[in-house]
Amino acid sequence: MDIRYLKGVGEKRAALLEKLGIGTVDDLLAFYPRDYVDWSTPYPVAGAPYDTRCVIQATVYALASSGRVRGGRLMSRFTAGDDTASLILTYFNNPYISKKLQPGQTYLFYGKAAGSMAQREMVNPAVLTCTQAQAAPLAPVYPQTEGVNSAYLARLVRQALDGGAAARLPEPLPPALLQKYRLWGKAQAVQAIHFPRDMEEVRQARRRLIFEELLALQLGLGLLRGRGKALTGAPMRPVDLAAFWAALPFAPTGAQRRAAGEILADMAGKTPMNRLLQGDVGSGKTLVAAAGVYMAARNGYQSVLMAPTELLAAQHAESLQKVLGPLGVRVALLTGSVKGAAKKALLAALAAGEADLVVGTHAVLSRPVQFKNLGFVVTDEQHRFGVRQRSQLSAKADHPHTLVMSATPIPRTLALLMFGDLDISVLDELPPGRTPVKTYAVTGKKRADLYGFLRTQIAAGHQAYIVCPVIDEGETDMLAVTTYYEEVARPLLPGCRVGLMHGRLKAAEKTAVMEDFRAGKLDVLVSTTVIEVGVDVPSANCIVIENAERYGLSALHQLRGRVGRGGGQAYCVLISDHVTDAVRQRLRFLCHTVDGFEIAKFDLETRGPGDFFGSRQHGLPRLHIADLMADGRTLYAAQQEAQALLAADPGLAAPEHAGLRAAAEKLFEGDTALN
Ligand code: ADP
Ligand code: MG
Repeated sequence: MDIRYLKGVGEKRAALLEKLGIGTVDDLLAFYPRDYVDWSTPYPVAGAPYDTRCVIQATVYALASSGRVRGGRLMSRFTAGDDTASLILTYFNNPYISKKLQPGQTYLFYGKAAGSMAQREMVNPAVLTCTQAQAAPLAPVYPQTEGVNSAYLARLVRQALDGGAAARLPEPLPPALLQKYRLWGKAQAVQAIHFPRDMEEVRQARRRLIFEELLALQLGLGLLRGRGKALTGAPMRPVDLAAFWAALPFAPTGAQRRAAGEILADMAGKTPMNRLLQGDVGSGKTLVAAAGVYMAARNGYQSVLMAPTELLAAQHAESLQKVLGPLGVRVALLTGSVKGAAKKALLAALAAGEADLVVGTHAVLSRPVQFKNLGFVVTDEQHRFGVRQRSQLSAKADHPHTLVMSATPIPRTLALLMFGDLDISVLDELPPGRTPVKTYAVTGKKRADLYGFLRTQIAAGHQAYIVCPVIDEGETDMLAVTTYYEEVARPLLPGCRVGLMHGRLKAAEKTAVMEDFRAGKLDVLVSTTVIEVGVDVPSANCIVIENAERYGLSALHQLRGRVGRGGGQAYCVLISDHVTDAVRQRLRFLCHTVDGFEIAKFDLETRGPGDFFGSRQHGLPRLHIADLMADGRTLYAAQQEAQALLAADPGLAAPEHAGLRAAAEKLFEGDTALN
């Protein structure tokens, strides 16, 4: 039904409504309020907060003046107040207001209260009589555009609802889902989202509508990626992991078992796996990947694992060899430093299917690297690689199963947003016996004491990282890493072996320094943040981070994860001389929290998600009511349900899914790939 059917909508208004995306009555009903004015608990005049919209209760005393002012605008001023303070009300271009406001009567006013303590002022506040406010205590506030204000929209919605428009809306959610999640029906939710009786109704209505929208989003994504269309070129039989777990020197965590189970189930499916494995530093992702490699090898398929640095690749090859070697999986290492005859032999072995797993750097992407039958592709620290590099790797086989691993503790909501076409497994549990890193935030005044502490730790056979933010002296008073190394670290650590590491070093130099540190030939490593993600140096138990205020909490948490890998107590000291309240609050949070997901969430909440992904740069449709950041649990449930629905009915072709399909199509309107 066209919006023009409603009274009060002519051609001009219709055009303005079009700008808000409202062309039909259904569109109007899907245009949800962004907030509500709660008329039920007004402030006394003196108690109204400054510069915040609020409701004030006041008695009108008199119309003080009314007339034209500069620009020809009509201005009406009223004196008003209560026994706490007086209030001046000013209205522009409102010829009816002097009829409406009766001296001696008490009203409720909604707007921003400015002015002084004794005399407050409000300009163009909305007004209700006390009786009106009692009848409808929560008034919707709509996003507005020029020529279409919130009150006008509220009247239109009221008119549509009174005409029974909500009841005519189709119900896209199947009865089973409504029941399972105890969701309100569409009509009830739409009615309540616009004109709720109380905030509990708002909550229920939102819950229902958010679920519907996120389900439509997930279904749309699922339809887009054509789940069920492309068959994997690496069909596999299920494999029992009992022998794999039994061969380990330790018991897997519950999270590792669960993630491995999810991966193996995917790999036994007809379609290629496309999964993100997320786990805090030290959660044991490598082992989970190894389970996938084991499954592939048992099925006669090869695997490849790509890591961002030579050192990391070497470390992975070593630890995977330990786990998989005894099980008969042949592991090879390919990096830029494998050359000549050795490289030739390795390439030949891969092409002949005589190696089951190759671990490497981006060298594995190069053209001469060919596999006999690659079935499983793993990328470690996925954020260090581009999407193109990952797909280059997958292109070496026919729809192989892919797994990307990340220690960047992005909340699931954000991961789903950024990697909308991936399934996600989470390792939310660390192997037992890990002692949380003791974390302290101090100012530079404590630096000398701190170095004393470092000396005793080093004397006890431990190693330390010291992180500085920049290489050269910048415009600020931050210590540059080289200057810091010369003037602070070395003088304060007499007799200690101190190494220097930064991004300007050549790759081979970096590897050499890192190798020295790992081998215990250096006691301390002064470094920029180039210190390698994921490298295990078990005897490093201290990390000092200078100018800690410069980093996001997640980055600090990642750095902190460099230590405490060898058992025993580890320490992290955050140094900052720029302590505003916000910085103090952030650093203190880190001192008391070890959970990377909690930290990332706090980070996002205090900084805002804008830093992470700008505005809609991931091509997802604009959502009406759901918030990908805030509605994480619902998003997860919606993803699960979408998967189940698509598994049963890949194209959503069944008549009972017509409503859901329509909802998904509507959300992705203009995305032709879906049609
Ligand atoms: P990350 O998730 O950071 O990549 P790794 O896979 O490098 O973690 O594992 C970190 C360390 O924990 C490794 O030394 C690994 O051998 C060890 N580890 C992994 N799983 C377990 C477990 N279930 N119990 C004990 N130690 C484990
Ligand atoms: Mg790792």
